[in-house]
Amino acid sequence: LEISLHWNRSKQVILVAILLFISTTQAAAQEGDSLGPTYLVQPGDTLSSIALRFDISVAELISENGINNPDALNVGDPLRLPGIDWIDGTLILDDVQLGDSYLGLRRQYWLDQASFVRLNRITSPNQLYYGFSALLASERGENTNSARSVLAAGQSLLELAIASGENPWSLVSQNQLNGTWEALSGDILFTPRSDQTGPSNLPSTIENVSIENPGFVTGKTAVIRVQSNANLELSGKLIDHELNFFEESDGVQVTLQGISLSSGEGNYTLTLTGQDENAFFSTQQVIRVDGGNYQRETLTVDESLLDPELSAREQVQLLEIANHASPEKLWTGFWGAPHPYIDVINSEFGIARSYNQGSYFGYHFGVDFGGGTGVEIWAPAPGTVIFAEPVELRGNLTILDHGWGIVSMYAHQSEILVSVGDNVQSGQLIGRVGNTGRSSGAHLHWEIWANGVAVEPLDWINLVFP
Ligand SMILES: [Zn+2]
Repeated sequence: LEISLHWNRSKQVILVAILLFISTTQAAAQEGDSLGPTYLVQPGDTLSSIALRFDISVAELISENGINNPDALNVGDPLRLPGIDWIDGTLILDDVQLGDSYLGLRRQYWLDQASFVRLNRITSPNQLYYGFSALLASERGENTNSARSVLAAGQSLLELAIASGENPWSLVSQNQLNGTWEALSGDILFTPRSDQTGPSNLPSTIENVSIENPGFVTGKTAVIRVQSNANLELSGKLIDHELNFFEESDGVQVTLQGISLSSGEGNYTLTLTGQDENAFFSTQQVIRVDGGNYQRETLTVDESLLDPELSAREQVQLLEIANHASPEKLWTGFWGAPHPYIDVINSEFGIARSYNQGSYFGYHFGVDFGGGTGVEIWAPAPGTVIFAEPVELRGNLTILDHGWGIVSMYAHQSEILVSVGDNVQSGQLIGRVGNTGRSSGAHLHWEIWANGVAVEPLDWINLVFP
């Protein structure tokens, strides 16, 4: 009896202690809530841009923060935001990086869905494209004292917890899930411990993903470089094109993908898929494609010259030939000129042409260099000849394969001076300018395709691709 009495007393003591603890923490939380959030002034901010962002008035901002000189706003200054009581902490802006996702960002910054949506005024997770300036509630990386694990196919969160020696409920809480059932295979989850850093929403085998100049722009060659610490078999998809990754150096893989002129600017999905000896992952990222700055032309020509079917047929024929992804890269550094008169451009790449009051529409997939019949055409980079014969539109056509999915084309030649299978060197004479095929005057029409998509050829002279 004495023992049981003792038990009851200690239970009472514990209960009282718990109640006291709950009431004090609640009081503390309420005090904290009443403070509201603080926003740190970012480069380029003005009082009116901040007021607009948070839907409050400039006058309220000034009076709440006791601002004397509205023009003397310093980057990093903390500002109180009057009237905002649904979120706490320090608000900052951060660009969405490759590998970030709606769920991943929320997990990293501990933001619930309602606050995240309200802060960023988004209506769909698809609006969080790469480079989007997102409002977040603390410093990035607060949650990076954790490793990333991929939930393997058929593996449950419970099994992952057991395998990593964790409590499944702490994994649920750390990953802002409602229950263990919400984690699906392929999900990248935070697991405690470890000091690994890197893209948040990619598995820890990936150390870095970078998008290089010129980025995602219609008619340009996008370069995606992935650095990993494991033997990773990478694949992916960008705007309906299967990506081909090639090993640049130990642990570094690169893909070169043309962004089609006809894609138009807008949001698209980039999918990265990887497989190593242990795990499979697949992650999607919304990316923003900007429109290139190309001209428009309205032309009136003889109807007999307009044959969309022929043009489409030749495009399919060329795609079959050009869809080469030879694993050996044959060039290094800048490409040379294909022709002696590269300053004499008759027609630029990417021009959108509307013919005969819109009866036909097309893009100029190459750049036209002037110069008369017989002018020399040179290989601008080492390559292998994969096509050398006449076609209907482009006339006498040579196609060079430079490896890694990059091919170049030389159209309307008067003479082809190479044969299929030849290996050519940079600067080598490969043909002569002419007026064959559907052409109105001698010129060199030069195209470069990156993984099946025509891109701005001059970029390859002016920029260094991997
Ligand atoms: Zn042309």
